[in-house]
Amino acid sequence: MNDYKNAPEHQDSEGKSKNFLEIFIEEDIRKGKNESRVHTRFPPEPNGYLHIGHAKSICLNFGLANKYNGLCNLRFDDTNPSKEEEEYVNSIMEDVRWLGFDWEDRLFYASDYFDQLFEWAVKLIKNGKAYVDDQTSEQISIQRGVPTRPGTESPFRNRPVDENLDLFMRMKKGEFKEGTHVLRAKIDMASPNMHMRDPVLYRIMHTSHHRTGDTWCIYPMYDFTHGQSDYLEGITHSICTLEFEIHRPLYDWFLDNLIETEYRPRQYEFARLNLSYTVMSKRKLLELVNEKYVKGWDDPRMPTVSGLRRRGYTPESIRNFADRIGIAKRENVIDVGVLEFSIREHLNKIAPRIFAVLDPLKVIITNYPEGKIEELTIENNPEDLDGGTRIVPFTKEIYIERSDFMEDPPNKFFRLGPGREVRLKGAYVIKCEDFKKDENGNIVELYCTYDPETKSGSGVQRKVKGTLHWVSMETAIDAEVRIYDRLFKTENPDIAEEGKDFKDNINPESLTVVTGKIEPAIKNAKAGEKFQFQRLGYFCVDPDSTSEKLVFNRTVTLKDTWAKMNR
Ligand code: ATP
Ligand code: MG
Repeated sequence: MNDYKNAPEHQDSEGKSKNFLEIFIEEDIRKGKNESRVHTRFPPEPNGYLHIGHAKSICLNFGLANKYNGLCNLRFDDTNPSKEEEEYVNSIMEDVRWLGFDWEDRLFYASDYFDQLFEWAVKLIKNGKAYVDDQTSEQISIQRGVPTRPGTESPFRNRPVDENLDLFMRMKKGEFKEGTHVLRAKIDMASPNMHMRDPVLYRIMHTSHHRTGDTWCIYPMYDFTHGQSDYLEGITHSICTLEFEIHRPLYDWFLDNLIETEYRPRQYEFARLNLSYTVMSKRKLLELVNEKYVKGWDDPRMPTVSGLRRRGYTPESIRNFADRIGIAKRENVIDVGVLEFSIREHLNKIAPRIFAVLDPLKVIITNYPEGKIEELTIENNPEDLDGGTRIVPFTKEIYIERSDFMEDPPNKFFRLGPGREVRLKGAYVIKCEDFKKDENGNIVELYCTYDPETKSGSGVQRKVKGTLHWVSMETAIDAEVRIYDRLFKTENPDIAEEGKDFKDNINPESLTVVTGKIEPAIKNAKAGEKFQFQRLGYFCVDPDSTSEKLVFNRTVTLKDTWAKMNR
């Protein structure tokens, strides 16, 4: 297996192994198939928002087109009028663009092809390869039978061509009620492939379509639409997920029976992305939205592209993720930690560091002058030489994180305790001299002294237990901070105990809201801006922010500390 992958013909110029699609494509180019063109498409059904699985498919389709100097189309697969909405169309376009891809002038809708598809259906009827069936869908489904035994032929299967044509025209004119007639292909009721057992091509639906209005009351099925749409757009490599593998003979059958050219699109299948702790079915995501388990499609806990964007993910991190996981021919589950790693890696490079205290404990520096504001200069990002510096005010009263103090700390606690010294990052070394408790025994104030000799950058070395982040009380800004955890508490949330469903696996603590104290440098931060709150994680400004109050979302923790409850 490894030897095969390491063979030189299976590596690209950077020594990276090619995936199986790249190997197929290069072979097609070499053989001159379809004039050596590479033309892919991303074909979403506009019945929901895009999720990270779609993002993978987008990166794959547009990525292959880019790599082989080809083209990639965006095509809305809008054959089912009942579930599709304009809102979804718009969000899908926004998400594809945001991910960094461009369909240029090649935006298509399967509904653009309704006339042509209708003509093709007529052609099949005329050639004796399609018939109108008057049975109910239940009868049809019973007759289809099971894969191990031949099905039963419909009593309408051998209808004369003229009668079929007449009925199909009347279906189109709206003379029949829904469910009374369908058009079926006449293929093989004994085929071991159930999809070849006279599949339905058209059904009656008296429903308006978001683009064609009431022009049609018969609508083509996915299988009768997809390959022909590929053909009409000049697609060469039609890449879809594994569940369509078994549809491929049908995809080919339609093209073989409808077109004469040598040019042929071909369908290839890859394994869909599954992520641990995540549900990816659009139906389930819609349920979460409709039943208000989340605030909307773009809730930062959702695996949707818009949710990830709001959460603080960057397009680069998602593209890197898609690249990192590669593509497979077998179903698998990717650890959601891999996605989190990708954004952490990118934000580490680009996010300015700031101080924020999310669970504040007041510290009074007893020997520091009252009213003095010292302006300390602190670098924004040690990972980014061009990141610059900022001014951080230091005052007599500051906040530190409550968890950074222990009244009776064990030896291994590298933070503050009575009589202990720590460095305040970018400022001074302080020593805890005393503390005050309220009537319930909670610590409310620390009394510390600072050593003016130890100012950061002064060169004075002092061995201390640790370094803490802090915020000056006087100048701190209050911000709402939304701390997200995984939306599901089980690794495979699709699996539920008997009598329960995936929603019973929701993590009741997926959102905690706190008021943070943040240094004033970020006062004018805009929605979407990203920061590292030092020692706490990566955070971004949420669009809910107003001029009065900033709202932050936690994108991801600093390290993969989920299991350790280090929040
Ligand atoms: P539905 O169940 O509604 O059909 P879908 O997730 O297949 O949902 P589509 O809008 O049909 O949604 O998907 C558009 C494209 O994205 C298809 O080519 C599909 O194969 C691909 N895709 C969908 N889900 C995933 C996934 N989890 N991983 C990779 N590709 C996916
Ligand atoms: Mg689909």
